[in-house]
Amino acid sequence: MHRLTCRRVVVAGAAAAAGLAAFNPGKHLHAQTQTKPTGVSPAELAKHEKFMRLAIAQANKNPGRPFGSVLIDERSGQVVGEGVANLAASPLFHSEIQAMNAYIAKNGNKGWENLTMYGTGESCPMCASAIVWAGIPRMVYGSDTPFVGQYVPDIHIRVQAIVDASKDIYTSKLLLGGVLANETDKLFEAKGKAKK
Ligand SMILES: [Zn+2]
Repeated sequence: MHRLTCRRVVVAGAAAAAGLAAFNPGKHLHAQTQTKPTGVSPAELAKHEKFMRLAIAQANKNPGRPFGSVLIDERSGQVVGEGVANLAASPLFHSEIQAMNAYIAKNGNKGWENLTMYGTGESCPMCASAIVWAGIPRMVYGSDTPFVGQYVPDIHIRVQAIVDASKDIYTSKLLLGGVLANETDKLFEAKGKAKK
């Protein structure tokens, strides 16, 4: 019993000493994104993959933080907002916020119910909450938070938890993860390797 307690203290101390290095732990608990895009038809999945490729193109503009987003208008199938993380400019400028601001600049603060947010990574709580407040009913992402958090600083609250906590103000029509995760995982993995 005493020995076990001591070991726990040692492990906790080592983790604390590692500090921010814990984001790049070397031993990865999640070799790949575990979230799978289930419950959609092959045709729907092909559509989601098409738009995810556009989000990947955005992410490639900032390999240091490879979050890219596009907003699609479901009525036209057109891109109505796109964004890449720009934390040098503002801590608020995650790719989803950038895409929403780009949409507002052209379309105003309306019409959110027609849109779908695509992102290379699962949204953080700030962005998921912004999407909830706006009322964008559909979210599609590639890599999930347990995977992404191994390579970039992240807040480990899943989007589903935000959606579940927002039932009074938000109705989700689609929350789909793991779309093209084999490709988006590589973006975050490359970021992790570049850091070493
Ligand atoms: Zn975010």
